[in-house]
Amino acid sequence: LFITIEGPDGAGKTSVLNELYPRLQFASEKEVIRTREPGGGKIAEKIRELILDPAYEEMDDRTEALLYAAARRQHVIDVILPALDDGKIVLCDRFVDSSIAYQGAGRRVGIKEVAQINQFATQGLTPDFTLYLDVDSDTGLERIQHSRGYQVDRLESEGLEFHQRVRHAYLKIAEQNSARVHKIDARADLQSVVDQCLLAICTAYPN
Ligand code: C5P
Ligand code: MG
Repeated sequence: LFITIEGPDGAGKTSVLNELYPRLQFASEKEVIRTREPGGGKIAEKIRELILDPAYEEMDDRTEALLYAAARRQHVIDVILPALDDGKIVLCDRFVDSSIAYQGAGRRVGIKEVAQINQFATQGLTPDFTLYLDVDSDTGLERIQHSRGYQVDRLESEGLEFHQRVRHAYLKIAEQNSARVHKIDARADLQSVVDQCLLAICTAYPN
């Protein structure tokens, strides 16, 4: 079972996962592994460092999209597929939807273009279930600025319009993939968001 968690910056994915992961492991007989993108695995983490380093601010948008796809490829091969083959539940922080939203819409590389290179990278591997934590861009940015202070990386320091394009793309993905994507209002308090995530997974996959 391949589950991904998605959302704009400031949606609270990390905080939610910190609570959701142990609770899901407790609720399930299967082993649950938690992993993240970009990264998850030795080579993919190295690519992550390169993408997120503020020293490479001038990186071309298509180069960025290709690096995300490359990191994803290696992550699928090294971590995700082996775990799924072993019958484990994979709980992954971000996947292809992030690239569609951030590189495709945010950076305007194009939805179709980004979908194509990711088809190549994943060979069509698609999550069984996606939790989309939805937050409006004002709230998201406010959360980032308050919680992380000056430690914002190069992507989080993008302007409001960039983040609005990202969110808009996510909403469209959720609408067009309603069987896979479960949308949750991430402005609610942490406990209630975590409860809703767990309930959504357990309803879709009772075992
Ligand atoms: O999920 P996390 O917050 O760790 O992501 C790190 C940064 O990478 C974020 O600022 C996010 O906006 C950015 N990102 C991106 N394109 C992706 C995935 C993440 O710009 N495909
Ligand atoms: Mg972040």
